[in-house]
Amino acid sequence: MALELRPNCEFCDIDLPPDSPDARICTYECTFCASCVETELRNVCPNCGGGFEKRPIRPVQEWRPGLSLARRPASTTRHHLAYDRSDMSAFSARVSAIPPHLR
Ligand SMILES: [Zn+2]
Ligand SMILES: [Zn+2]
Repeated sequence: MALELRPNCEFCDIDLPPDSPDARICTYECTFCASCVETELRNVCPNCGGGFEKRPIRPVQEWRPGLSLARRPASTTRHHLAYDRSDMSAFSARVSAIPPHLR
């Protein structure tokens, strides 16, 4: 199983191609852009309550057999947040004061 490289921010829907330095993920691979994580989500995943980290960039070149972006392509399934802004804000307010490693 490889990390699912999702194509968009779940909140603002901006494109996050596999080589984007702005993609952020939680441990469940919920994917958002850096701007939304900082300004809207306050480092709280609205789906699971976890924190975010920068999504690693999968090598384009096949350095080892079978492992490259071409062999393990990015997902094309766009995800959209199931919660509205007010729900998300209330959730972030409840959780964001607790550091991710103590949640
Ligand atoms: Zn976004
Ligand atoms: Zn999550």
